[in-house]
Amino acid sequence: MTAEKTERPLLQFAAPRRAKPARHLADLSMAERRAAVTELGEKAFRADQLSRHYFERLTGDVAAMTDLSAGARERLGVLLPPLLTPVREMTSDGGTTRKTLWRLFDGALVESVLMRYPDRATICVSSQAGCGMNCPFCATGQAGLTRNMSTAEIVEQVVSGARALANNEVPGGPGRISNVVFMGMGEPMANYKAVIGAVRRMVEPAPDGLGISARGVTVSTVGLVPAIGKLAAEGLPVTLALSLHAPDDELRDTLVPINTRWKVAEVLDAAWSYAATTKRRVSIEYALIKDINDQEWRADLLGKLVRNKLVHVNLIPLNPTPGSKWTASRPEDERAFVRRLQFHGVPVTVRDTRGREIDGACGQLAAAE
Ligand code: SAH
Repeated sequence: MTAEKTERPLLQFAAPRRAKPARHLADLSMAERRAAVTELGEKAFRADQLSRHYFERLTGDVAAMTDLSAGARERLGVLLPPLLTPVREMTSDGGTTRKTLWRLFDGALVESVLMRYPDRATICVSSQAGCGMNCPFCATGQAGLTRNMSTAEIVEQVVSGARALANNEVPGGPGRISNVVFMGMGEPMANYKAVIGAVRRMVEPAPDGLGISARGVTVSTVGLVPAIGKLAAEGLPVTLALSLHAPDDELRDTLVPINTRWKVAEVLDAAWSYAATTKRRVSIEYALIKDINDQEWRADLLGKLVRNKLVHVNLIPLNPTPGSKWTASRPEDERAFVRRLQFHGVPVTVRDTRGREIDGACGQLAAAE
């Protein structure tokens, strides 16, 4: 092999080869859990017991499972290896927004954000350490891809948030997770298998999984067209969010570099097929960037592309990220953008900027210590 200086590629699909995290209960379907438990010399029904502890009572510590003999606890403990170590927690909004920095077994860092509202609690999870999609306005995109996360590493973020709510650690009384959004670090569709496994664990009823409604789960993507097609065929009615950010290829090529591979028309076609198959409204994400993509003519073009579709446009005032000169649109431009979309009859909302003060809002997750 010759050593040559390589620059980071525009798009990184394959994650670097690294040691894999240990196998965990949450990586396995119930059938696989029964097989794993049997292999460890225990009766198959122990898989149900373990699953109730983990997915219902949110206990990850075998020592606390007193309905198991000491011997069984020791043997089954290997199915609950610690995967996430909290490094730092930051809160805002009176404690109802909480960002956690996690260290994975190999030192990789990721973040998740728990957001509690009066009527729901949403956890924003990471699916990769870093990201290979290189969107210039996103802090995660600037760091490149470290590695894919495993199914259980993704699920553990949700379990930990659910535990914090159940234990009354978040103002508002004991609660449950109602929504999961794959809008943390990483491109979920570039880590397809692990992400689908995690979605299954989230939506399967207890004791197989956490019993969260599939309608409450949102998978956000830059637009990996073949993966969107695959997701539609899974029979999981999760919400698809498409990070569009520009209605024209010329601009989108620069804002969302995957557009050099799959163009606006192709990715929107994939989104409409997704909506047709799942009967779920597709969410179009559009970060409003001052003088870059917030012109009225672009709102008109977007309106024409998405009107009369099963769609909802979610405008996100750009959150500041280090090293980027871009900033959020002027309020009057934002209002005009909304009005143009409404003129075309397109349902549109402007997302709140929860967690901005703790760098926990969209596109701000950089997982630095
Ligand atoms: N990789 C996936 C999921 C993670 S990002 C995706 O891109 O969809 C979640 C959302 O935040 C995406 O719509 C992303 O484009 C948006 N985002 C990224 N950086 C942002 C920023 N600085 N301000 C506002 N939104 C941003």
